[in-house]
Amino acid sequence: MNGDNMKNSKKQKKYNYNTVAVHGKSSFDPLTGAVSTPIYQSATFRHPKLYESTGYDYSRLQNPTREAAENAISLLENGKEALAFSSGMAAVSTVIKLFKSGDSIIVSDDLYGGIYRIFESIYSVYGIKAIYTDTTSIQNIENAYSPSVKAIFLESPTNPTMKISNIRKISEFSKEKNILTIVDNTFLTSYFQKPLDLGADIVIYSGTKYLAGHNDTLAGFIVSSNDDIIENLRLIQKSEGAVLSPFDSWLVLRGLKTLPLRMDRINSNTQKIAEFLNNHSAIKKIYYPGLPSHKGHELLKTQSTGFGGIISFEVESAAKVEKILENVELIMFAESLGGTETLITYPMVQTHNAIPEEIRNKIGVNDRLLRLSVGIENVDDLVDDLDFALSI
Ligand SMILES: *Cc1c(COP(=O)(O)O)cnc(C)c1O
Repeated sequence: MNGDNMKNSKKQKKYNYNTVAVHGKSSFDPLTGAVSTPIYQSATFRHPKLYESTGYDYSRLQNPTREAAENAISLLENGKEALAFSSGMAAVSTVIKLFKSGDSIIVSDDLYGGIYRIFESIYSVYGIKAIYTDTTSIQNIENAYSPSVKAIFLESPTNPTMKISNIRKISEFSKEKNILTIVDNTFLTSYFQKPLDLGADIVIYSGTKYLAGHNDTLAGFIVSSNDDIIENLRLIQKSEGAVLSPFDSWLVLRGLKTLPLRMDRINSNTQKIAEFLNNHSAIKKIYYPGLPSHKGHELLKTQSTGFGGIISFEVESAAKVEKILENVELIMFAESLGGTETLITYPMVQTHNAIPEEIRNKIGVNDRLLRLSVGIENVDDLVDDLDFALSI
């Protein structure tokens, strides 16, 4: 039902990323010519006759609007297929189900709190074990490895301290051991970083963040180029049904059209804000890989074309944190990231409260750490807002 014109254009041309972001796999609906992908709000599809199908049977299996979103995400990632889920965590959960009781997975020690929770509170009961280590060091990964390890699950940059892992080297290690490399690419998106091209087997997204980009929907994606992995993931997806709805798929498609524009603006806004904070006396520590002083700065330049929109920073006390959160005006105190609006988050209380205090303190998620997700507003307005809140 979806036209194939982007892939099989008359000129057999492979289009630029920015063009694919706007058009997806098919620019228009072949049935009506609609340039905006129609929202096929139908649970089921009529069959022409016995043993015949339009290609769509029931929306848990596939829906044309969801398929268009999956096709667009997969083209942008240079993957073979993408699968769309109702949230990032539904995508993560589906990937963990590729493993079985007795398997272990090496996981970045600094990561989104929900991922820690799903391993510890849900999958540990089923005998799937997470081994946490600082994946910025290959040596740590080698030390954590044992024959029960079946995958390495990375965030790079990590959430919230922006640590950078070497995706190429880790993928080489995984290939040697015949295990999978899984990368949560939520922070940079395929616009800046393409883990599959760097050797990873599976890419995961919270599409809630930059991909949809407007703080208006939850979404999750998995992308891979490995047929066996894709087949297994499809089986789990259609059996469980945590699929992205037609309307939410449309919101993602609409968000993707401006992904390159947003990421460019966010990247330049964030660089300016990071430099402002870096020179501010109220800031005791700053984590932004776009600053040359950041430990992962040079490495990130070898695997990403941008530094992204997340800055974490430490102030002198928890009391100061409270004042900043009370005194930002334009910047909103809310969890989440990756939208058009700039948000400030208190990781210890919001995104990372599932992580035990001892581990949190070790990775730097203490009561003085704040995380900023920079949006696309005017950067001077954002700097003024921060300047005011920090001065009180
Ligand atoms: C938000 C987030 C998730 C979880 O995604 P949801 O869409 O909220 O379910 C996973 N990984 C990272 C890095 C995130 O920021």
